[in-house]
Amino acid sequence: MKVLIVGPGGREHALAWKCAQSPRVARVLVAPGNAGTAREHKVRNVPVAAEDISGLVALARDEKVDLTIIGPEAPLVAGIVDAFNDVRLPCFGPRRAPAQLEGSKAFTKEFLTRHRIPTAAYATFTRETFDAGFVRAQRLPIVVKASGLAAGKGVIIAKTHAEAIATVLAMFDGQFGNSGTQVVVEEFLQGEEASFIVMADGVHILPLATSQDHKRRDDGDQGPNTGGMGAYSPAPVVTPAQHARIMREIIEPTIRGLAADRMPYTGFLYAGVMIAPDGTPKVLEFNCRFGDPETQPVLMRLQSDLPTLCEAALAGRLHTVRAEWDSRAALGVVLAAEHYPDGSSNGEIISGLDQAARLPGKIFHAATSTNKQGQVVTHGGRILCAVGLGATVGEAQHQAYRLVDAVHWPGMRYRKDIGHLAIARETPH
Ligand code: AMP
Repeated sequence: MKVLIVGPGGREHALAWKCAQSPRVARVLVAPGNAGTAREHKVRNVPVAAEDISGLVALARDEKVDLTIIGPEAPLVAGIVDAFNDVRLPCFGPRRAPAQLEGSKAFTKEFLTRHRIPTAAYATFTRETFDAGFVRAQRLPIVVKASGLAAGKGVIIAKTHAEAIATVLAMFDGQFGNSGTQVVVEEFLQGEEASFIVMADGVHILPLATSQDHKRRDDGDQGPNTGGMGAYSPAPVVTPAQHARIMREIIEPTIRGLAADRMPYTGFLYAGVMIAPDGTPKVLEFNCRFGDPETQPVLMRLQSDLPTLCEAALAGRLHTVRAEWDSRAALGVVLAAEHYPDGSSNGEIISGLDQAARLPGKIFHAATSTNKQGQVVTHGGRILCAVGLGATVGEAQHQAYRLVDAVHWPGMRYRKDIGHLAIARETPH
């Protein structure tokens, strides 16, 4: 069969790499892909952008693609699955209506409240309805979120009431473009975050291996929020009891609620969950796709055939398949541009990739391209993700940092403590 992966990043490199391992798959196309996908066996890049929905439909039709998997949220929120379905092309992801779970935080908060799914207390405002008095009455810190897509940057945790009000007003003034037309103001939740990612077929749910990412840029979980500086799987914070609780209190009512609201959810569903010190899980956010960088370590552990799982979901048969996992832990370290998340790196030659390819583990490319001389060069903010495997998260971390040590470009930056919370749990005190 022929598979098309849509997207340019590290998640898409991991999806393409995993699909290419399937004995059922003869060819994987990636649109547009990167220098990493270009170098994978059975994989070919096609220069069609992830947002070019009509171009992607034409590509899938012309190439007789049997299965398309969408990586990033923007085309999902824009309705790419609806466009594929209109011409009967199999496409794994949620349609436009349920993709609002990521596309509109105002939609999600209303949905969660109506279906009694636990989340932070909140209020939604537009410029016309904004009430600064409401903000002044809230306990500090206060979380302010632009409702629409903001590439992981639309959440500000304000330490004073004045900062919270100024942030809301800046969002109305277009700091995040149209994403800030509506603003959600919500209660700050204490606890430990976990990513809970499942596949869904509208009715049935297949939970994927647990994972946890590091959103802050700097060691010790300090510095600005980013799209993610590293991730590992499994996440020890999600004990079997916690897993059952998140399924029962969050994931199952969400899939049921969406079906009841006549927008059944098919695709990867990612719940960002805050687990309070007393063990209560609450929804921080939903993403309507696989996480980046969680995809990279999670797929390193997946032993089942990914295209078969996606096809089962598209046929509404997810309850008939199982996902098998490598019992080892996987840990991915993101290698980013010097000034990430505010800046990017372009055209700098990345050295050491050949040496790294001889080491255990795997480097996924997130933002790379190939220059005229055929060298792999930087092309964005988060450039690579080095993933190691090991009997413990600590051993996986060791393997990942050996890969990190093998590669270099000027200005390469990364966290040196990815997995520290899990490793602290592994180390007897
Ligand atoms: P979101 O995109 O909504 O997940 O927000 C990005 C990050 O901001 C989350 O991963 C959390 O680290 C943090 N965050 C969001 N909402 C809250 C909240 N209500 N309480 C505490 N932290 C939050």
